[in-house]
Amino acid sequence: MNNSTIIEEGTQYVMNTYARFPVALVEGKGSKVWDADGKEYLDFVGGLAVTSLGHCHPKLTAAIRAQSEKLFHCSNLYWIEPQVKVAKLLAENSAFDKTFFCNSGAEANEAAIKLARKYGKKHHGENCYRIITMKKSFHGRTYATLTATGQEKVQKGYEPLPEGFMYVPFNDLEALKESVTDDVCAIMLEPVQGEGGVNVANKEFLEEIQKLCKEKDILLIFDEVQCGMGRTGKLFCYQNYGVEPHIMTLAKALGGGTAIGAMLAKERVAESFAPGDHASTFGGNPLACAAAEAVITTMLEEKLPENAKEMGEYLVEGLKEISGTYSFAGEVRGLGLLVGMELEIEAVPVVKKCLEKGLLLSPAGKNVLRFLPPLNVTRDEIDTALEKVNFVFEEMGDGK
Ligand SMILES: *Cc1c(COP(=O)(O)O)cnc(C)c1O
Repeated sequence: MNNSTIIEEGTQYVMNTYARFPVALVEGKGSKVWDADGKEYLDFVGGLAVTSLGHCHPKLTAAIRAQSEKLFHCSNLYWIEPQVKVAKLLAENSAFDKTFFCNSGAEANEAAIKLARKYGKKHHGENCYRIITMKKSFHGRTYATLTATGQEKVQKGYEPLPEGFMYVPFNDLEALKESVTDDVCAIMLEPVQGEGGVNVANKEFLEEIQKLCKEKDILLIFDEVQCGMGRTGKLFCYQNYGVEPHIMTLAKALGGGTAIGAMLAKERVAESFAPGDHASTFGGNPLACAAAEAVITTMLEEKLPENAKEMGEYLVEGLKEISGTYSFAGEVRGLGLLVGMELEIEAVPVVKKCLEKGLLLSPAGKNVLRFLPPLNVTRDEIDTALEKVNFVFEEMGDGK
């Protein structure tokens, strides 16, 4: 099928929940993808921060092939060897002791919310269930996680929403302190907000929250679904800050493209869950875990977090240069290879123009152009992306 046939039949048969760009991607290798008409693109979306090893990395492909010839699925009624290996790898490389496996970011956050409420009730009584989250956050599309998300646009039309969530402005310590009452069991945030516009947490903000949480025995939950797994220059984003949350959620890049999510916790917190408290049929299945094991070991072996840091700095430098030249371009910000450029115009039309020029980018919020290249991206590839962005901006006129 070519692009137009896929789009035509997709419009007829697939439910209309996405504002999709008008191409169908059918093949990928490294930083490149091809659409159904054979056109090549430099992929700085990476399936929304998912394909962090690049497309079809040989180690990931080999791991999936081998596991698919051994055992796909057996359920969590039994012990699963690849799941145990991933849990051990995560524990050995992070500040957490135990992992619960699921299939997506929203599910990982659901698990975190459920665990936090169990913990709050167990240690501080039935009324300790409230969770403070940040404005402009994004935590998922299930009922609890869209309620945790501090953006009205994902909540509208779905009321009544679950009770017990409060929102404070990101990086606003005073507002947060004012919201902390005895019924708060957790504070949940993305150390770098992705969907909300690539907003980086201040070190002091996170340090003060950690202090506050310690004082009041409130759980600190980091949603690292987007900013985790090497993207911000460390294997986990919290490691950039020296602030350790009690719970961390992962998904997106964890399986490099296979569906897997994880909720990690310190032992003292994890023990609030007992058999029967939470479950997932597909969670931590052999196939997804074989992929996650390959992703984690490859990231460590190939020093991808380090490359993300170096290439991120290079990308930001180049984008700042471009931004300084055009009046509609503003602040460039980010951490590692989670990078955004603020625009004074809407991001979507710019993303469309870049797509036409063979560069895939995604918007983050209304006005931010987001760059999410694979973590093994090269300097040459970044140069090509910068050239394309510059070309598009130049075409849009309005040079300073
Ligand atoms: C994408 C994302 C989610 C939701 O993940 P899904 O796999 O789409 O459910 C949650 N939190 C953050 C920070 C995300 O970027």
